Amino acid sequence: MALIVQKFGGSSVADVECMRRVASRVARTRAAGNQVVVVVSAMGDTTDELVELAHTINPDPCERELDMLMASGEQISSSILAMALHAMGIPAIAMSGPQAGILTDGFHTKAKITEIRPKRIFDQLKQGRVVIIAGFQGLNPNEDIATLGRGGSDTTAVALAAALRADRCQILKDVEGIYTANPRVAPSAWKLDEISYDEMLELASLGSEVLQSRAVEFAKKYDVVLEVVSSFVEKTGTLVTKEGKGMEDILVRGIAADKGQVKVTVGNVADKPGIAAEVFKELARANVNVDMIIQNVSLHGVTDISFTVPANELSRTRKTLDALSRLIGPDRKPDIDADIAKVSIVGVGMKGHSGVAARMFEAMAKGKINIEMISTSEIKISTIIRKEKADEAVRILHKAFGLDKGAPKKKKTVRKK
Ligand code: ASP
Ligand code: MG
Repeated sequence: MALIVQKFGGSSVADVECMRRVASRVARTRAAGNQVVVVVSAMGDTTDELVELAHTINPDPCERELDMLMASGEQISSSILAMALHAMGIPAIAMSGPQAGILTDGFHTKAKITEIRPKRIFDQLKQGRVVIIAGFQGLNPNEDIATLGRGGSDTTAVALAAALRADRCQILKDVEGIYTANPRVAPSAWKLDEISYDEMLELASLGSEVLQSRAVEFAKKYDVVLEVVSSFVEKTGTLVTKEGKGMEDILVRGIAADKGQVKVTVGNVADKPGIAAEVFKELARANVNVDMIIQNVSLHGVTDISFTVPANELSRTRKTLDALSRLIGPDRKPDIDADIAKVSIVGVGMKGHSGVAARMFEAMAKGKINIEMISTSEIKISTIIRKEKADEAVRILHKAFGLDKGAPKKKKTVRKK
């Protein structure tokens, strides 16, 4: 008997019809002789609606209460799914994150899972029940509910799969797997059979919304067999796995665009040692995820520092910079540019090949797309460009790296006689 963790995203549980379909899928997995632990997201756009509701009543809601509110979305979908299974005569029990023994650190709205105490889950599985767990939440050291950051139900699922030593963790989505690019943007994009943990990690943190990056980190760390499959049709999806032979044959495996970043520029700061250290230390302390950083050439002893942060961390960023006004200068309000996008190419094949950056920049130049910032790692190149050019850039790069020709034909293995 195998233990399978199945995670269903918001659009897979959007309404009653969807819930019934998910219940049947879970029922079939169970009927095939498996133990099933289900993790659900909030129904449809519930989380967005809850966040909006919060901001209507208070433009700067307290994060503890925001977590209480947001966590309720997943609690609704887990209990509804349990009821749907009961209606089909299948024993099932719904649990909130805290009830399931999921413990987190103290950072509200972006907490990390620190420990899972799976005893209660195992007890229920032993009694033959399907265990349905509200994703995206856990209990923090103050015994308050904390949420895991947007898209956090993926992390709940993978962390549970690791803690329960599940045989497989399936992420069921309204797409059929991981694509070379967003097919709504680049119609020639195709589904990958497999992708390495590291590539998936880059893509996830670069704005491809298919998996939360922390979920992939967890999967890599604990060797979780992770599969992204369609929740509508039963066919093989994309396996996220260790880097294997032949994976480097493809130069670029995926292209991502992130429109959720803003560029912050602090102008006219003194160009002396320690300023950057102080600014970024304080931002880190406020738990702001700074991504790209550039410091301009200094003129007359002053300089500009620009960096990008996720748009939803802008208010924290502002507060931090305000508190540093003694250092930066009280009348130097940071300049905020929200009309940017980050477009990136990712592939383990880059490790062994040169000229990838040149090819990328050349293609963008030909398309008259101006590059404002660049950052690279061993397996990715990211650029900041104007937001309105992002979709076009994705199509241009998809073509420039030959991805518009479809999946490469599988090499025939030559058998020795
Ligand atoms: N419901 C949360 C969100 O929309 C968590 C999730 O879907 O994974 O971000
Ligand atoms: Mg969601």
